[in-house]
Amino acid sequence: MALTGKTALVTGSTSGIGLGIADVLAHAGANVVLNGFGDNQAAVNHVARHGGRVGFHGADLTDTQQIVELFDYARRDFYSVDILVNNAGIQYVAPVEQFPVERWDAVIALNLSSVFHCTRLALPTMQARDWGRIINIASVHGSVGSAGKAAYVAAKHGVLGLTKVVALETARTGITCNALCPGWVLTPLVQQQIDARIAAGEPAEQARAALLAEKQPSQAFVTPQQLGELALFLCGAAAEQVRGAAWNIDGGWLAQ
Ligand code: NAD
Repeated sequence: MALTGKTALVTGSTSGIGLGIADVLAHAGANVVLNGFGDNQAAVNHVARHGGRVGFHGADLTDTQQIVELFDYARRDFYSVDILVNNAGIQYVAPVEQFPVERWDAVIALNLSSVFHCTRLALPTMQARDWGRIINIASVHGSVGSAGKAAYVAAKHGVLGLTKVVALETARTGITCNALCPGWVLTPLVQQQIDARIAAGEPAEQARAALLAEKQPSQAFVTPQQLGELALFLCGAAAEQVRGAAWNIDGGWLAQ
């Protein structure tokens, strides 16, 4: 299989997009290290059904020391991290003047700084083997804004900048660094935003459709499986010269 013998570390992979990507990479033969909060045993069992090795480390990626411990674990138990998927992320919605400072700090720490820390810790072993794939799960919000999402939009714009720099610094090696930029994907992160619309008085049956209609021309959600398949393509030889890309997968959001 395509990824036999490779180890993939997918941050924030106990639910949503991260779990979907981990599942596709495991199906392609990779050993996988999962990370995140919540029901990690269910996530491990789900991914392990493909037959490869699956590990888990519950590092809180807003804490730099815990990120170091996550990489120590991955190197000790899996020998290397060949594929790094920087996926963990959170959202908080409020106007700038009301944005709680601690929420700003948390979103920047997880959605931007953890991408830097995981990348700097993954690169030395990738460089030693002259092979690696770094896939950053950014967002359409890496290229455009939405009112109320100051920290998230700032962090995702930062991720696209960091992706370009890492791609340039590794350009003459077997390591590539790219970003995927999803539009709406129906995960717990987005369900919270649908629930907020319902709490604000929108009829439940309309809230989901209205969220899509505002931004996503296809009016269909992107799926974690589709993101996993795109990540798998970026791991392959055909994508060897895809470097520093911000790959939109957004039902046409950014075509408008
Ligand atoms: P999700 O809430 O389903 O999953 C987030 C994951 O991150 C979970 O596994 C959670 O446990 C983990 N996590 C949260 N805080 C953490 C922390 N401090 N340390 C370690 N792990 C932590 O969200 P999702 O929708 O799957 O989002 C995944 C990524 O995709 C995020 O970076 C998000 O910005 C991005 N994204 C999502 C959408 C969407 O529509 N859902 C669109 C564009 C981009």
